[in-house]
Amino acid sequence: MIDLRSDTVTRPSEEMRRAMANAEVGDDVYGEDPTVNRLEERAAEILGKEAALFVPTGTMGNTIGIKVHTTHGQEVICESRAHIMNYELSMMAWFAGALARPIVAENGILRWEQVRREIRAVSPHYSPTGLVEVENTANIAGGTVYPMEVLEEICDGAHAAGLKVHMDGARVFNAAAALGCDVKEVVAKVDSVMFCLSKGLGAPVGSMVVGTRSAMEYGRLLRKRLGGGMRQAGVLAAAGLIALEKNPARLGEDHANARLIAERLAEMRGVAVKMETVQTNIVIFDVAGTGRTGAELSAEFLRRGVAINGLGGTLMRAVTHLDVNRADCEKAMDVVRGVIGS
Ligand SMILES: *Cc1c(COP(=O)(O)O)cnc(C)c1O
Repeated sequence: MIDLRSDTVTRPSEEMRRAMANAEVGDDVYGEDPTVNRLEERAAEILGKEAALFVPTGTMGNTIGIKVHTTHGQEVICESRAHIMNYELSMMAWFAGALARPIVAENGILRWEQVRREIRAVSPHYSPTGLVEVENTANIAGGTVYPMEVLEEICDGAHAAGLKVHMDGARVFNAAAALGCDVKEVVAKVDSVMFCLSKGLGAPVGSMVVGTRSAMEYGRLLRKRLGGGMRQAGVLAAAGLIALEKNPARLGEDHANARLIAERLAEMRGVAVKMETVQTNIVIFDVAGTGRTGAELSAEFLRRGVAINGLGGTLMRAVTHLDVNRADCEKAMDVVRGVIGS
């Protein structure tokens, strides 16, 4: 099967499995797992921040990132398709007591002018704004990337208004690769960032939250409270270290493969692709013109050995990753064309 459902489906490499088997471990709740400690140090270094925290999932990482910056009853400004609002079981309301203040933004990229208009002061009616959240890359908008000047303007504006900025950087290394710059620059102005080791970077499990030392110290307590105090987690961190050190450099391949998929899809009858959103490893496309739904087509593709998820209605999403190569993508598009017609 050629699996284009998500970049979460990658399997650990031989090198990762060996490192996992041989990992030096200790009890991480006591801070004694040397492999987890090294992963946290390297993540902080690579992102240019003071400290980092290894967490089992991106959802937990975002939950901690939001909670450290907010108090109950505040609002979190985010884009309307944000993962934190739509795909985390209302975690920010459930755990942080925060309300999403969503903004519809072109291609998922917020502008400071839009954010500024939604900032609310304390008043007898409003819930005050507690945090600005940016998703980079913006998953459901097609894996779009924040232009550096747009991101910097949001961070500068938020800080001037006394607000912190959290980046859901599940795919921040994809953003850096697309921008052709160091990931440090991409996250330089945000106060905290979560990124996934278990997506394009290819680790089997894990995400990181990165930020100031004091925020991460509080974050460590929140992680325990959430049930994320893992013990000999070095077996997981060992794979994470390889993911972090080696795999950012190859993300450009995934981006080129996504572009190939987008170009092929755009030639098919009844399929619409917004080409300007195809900037990284995600292709969102609309199959309305085929007269069929995403769910129907998804089932047909699957019967022919290609897995592509529907996003509800007529939208579908294909994601490239290190377990599919260019030939796989071409083969998958032949299958899709066979079903849809050209
Ligand atoms: C995958 C993802 C997450 C985290 O998801 P988990 O499945 O909890 O690891 C967060 N934000 C975005 C944008 C994502 O794509």
